[in-house]
Amino acid sequence: MQKEHVAKKRFGQNFLKDESVLHKIVEAMPNDDLRVAEIGPGLGDLTKFLVDVKSVTTFEVDTDLCKLLSKTFKDEITTNRLTLHCGDVLDAWKIQLLDEPYNLVANLPYYIATNIILKALEDPQCRTILVMVQREVALKFAASAGEKNFGSLGIITQSVGEASIVVTVPPEAFDPMPKVDSAVLLISKTASRSDEDFEAMLRIAFTQPRKTLLKNLSSHYEKEKVSQALHELGLPPTIRPHQVRTSDYHQLYNIL
Ligand code: SAM
Repeated sequence: MQKEHVAKKRFGQNFLKDESVLHKIVEAMPNDDLRVAEIGPGLGDLTKFLVDVKSVTTFEVDTDLCKLLSKTFKDEITTNRLTLHCGDVLDAWKIQLLDEPYNLVANLPYYIATNIILKALEDPQCRTILVMVQREVALKFAASAGEKNFGSLGIITQSVGEASIVVTVPPEAFDPMPKVDSAVLLISKTASRSDEDFEAMLRIAFTQPRKTLLKNLSSHYEKEKVSQALHELGLPPTIRPHQVRTSDYHQLYNIL
């Protein structure tokens, strides 16, 4: 008899058991013929649905799960419907994760979720990101100007595409249950993030998120120049960093 897998906390293993959520993820997938990259297939619950409709490449760090997956998906692996890489996805991910265009679909390990999304936004082969993450993280990527959680992540996302929340998912949908709510985040890319200097300016703009943008930017740029730039864009000197739109951040960057 097969031994039952005990979830490993250090790998962020919370297995998605709610079939209705699995269906919602599959329904939200882009309607194209691109390969799917799945990070962290776990016990293969989502993988099962993915291989039904697409060719899939998966990356799983846990060697116990890798053994299990290679048995469960023996046929799909033999027919090349599924490619299974065993090891840390971050070691496999240089500039591109795959050497062909792909959509990322995954229930991500939460401890590296932000890092993975930022890498996917940078990867020119990645076209769409459809991922389950901690709800708080999803809201940051999908935030709009004026919302409290609008910051660098939202601005970077809006600079390369569009983001939305597909569905919010309670802890009960998983086994074991995480401590927080989750959400499925969809980002459709039209470009890839590439401007390190722009992102460096964003870090300065949000050093102290509750202070004014003028104060934050003046710690690095000449105060007079920042004042003049805000004035040119019709932004008041009292404006806070989260209140400024992405397009205005790009203009500010060009002026400064
Ligand atoms: N996809 C499965 C599901 O929906 O039930 C499992 C999702 S679970 C939240 C995250 C998975 O990512 C686990 O299987 C874990 O072992 C794997 N994982 C964690 N860190 C990883 C890494 N650095 N590279 C590849 N896989 C990783």
